[in-house]
Amino acid sequence: MSRVNTVLGTIPAEELGLVAIHEHIGYGMPGSELDTKWWKTPEQRYEETVPKLRAFHEHGGGTFVDATGICNGRDVDYYKSLSAKTGVHIVACTGFVGGDTALPHFAQAGVEYLTQQFVHEITVGIGNTGSLAGVIKVGVSRGGRMTDLDKRIYRAAARASLATGVPILTHLAIDAENAIAIFNEEGLPLDRVLFGHVDDGVNADKTRDIWIAEQGGRIGFDTFGYETELPDPPFWARPRKERLDHFLRFIGEGRLKLVLASADANCSPLGWPGVKGHTVNYIFDDLIPDLRAAGLDETTIKTIFVDNPADFLTIQK
Ligand SMILES: [Zn+2]
Repeated sequence: MSRVNTVLGTIPAEELGLVAIHEHIGYGMPGSELDTKWWKTPEQRYEETVPKLRAFHEHGGGTFVDATGICNGRDVDYYKSLSAKTGVHIVACTGFVGGDTALPHFAQAGVEYLTQQFVHEITVGIGNTGSLAGVIKVGVSRGGRMTDLDKRIYRAAARASLATGVPILTHLAIDAENAIAIFNEEGLPLDRVLFGHVDDGVNADKTRDIWIAEQGGRIGFDTFGYETELPDPPFWARPRKERLDHFLRFIGEGRLKLVLASADANCSPLGWPGVKGHTVNYIFDDLIPDLRAAGLDETTIKTIFVDNPADFLTIQK
């Protein structure tokens, strides 16, 4: 049977519904929890987050994949209560956003240790929460090239994915030749990997999305909504139409089954102000209407947000 790990238990993939494949309940850099300026009370965090998840659920959202790695504010007991109160399935991840967000304890670790850590979080649980990770996060450190630590994390993720059947989701799809070389060396089928952020304003030109798709990788257009039209756009913003055209062109060339889409928004940013006016509900408020206006039918929209994520997230043993 096809199963997916959520923070409240393992569920049939058919129950996921519409999936936001790359989002954050609260993302911060390691140490932000110690910063007195940005420290948030539990009340503030719930107040910022619950209405967004409730709206997500009311719009017809089924599952929220939290791509916040170890050391970036991941808080699974909190996710469990959010999921129980809002009815949204939450999938938590093991792994790291990038080598440069791994604290020294992990930064000094070898591939074997990292593999064991990921496998433990997928098969035994994250900390003492009893919740199993449903996806493995990896990423390219700031600088544009994979560091030695990034490569150890990618290799460990490949081994953990093969051992458990849980897929891998990447922060950034740049330097994909090195990433794919590692996955190939480990014998991991590339349809178990979502190469994320091919659509952001900084890397869209450097990302070889078509080449990655030709190798069999899945492609994440997962920063929808970070637009230059925002009142306070982040440096990775991109004109709305440019990103949408990129996406439509990509699927129009026969790659619909390979794409996943999301907004990469933060419900309650930790240690930074976040990007105002951008939430996971961009998917419903703007993206799906834009796709309909561009002529996509409901079956195609279901493929992008329901069928493809269910196929990707299903534990493959
Ligand atoms: Zn993210």
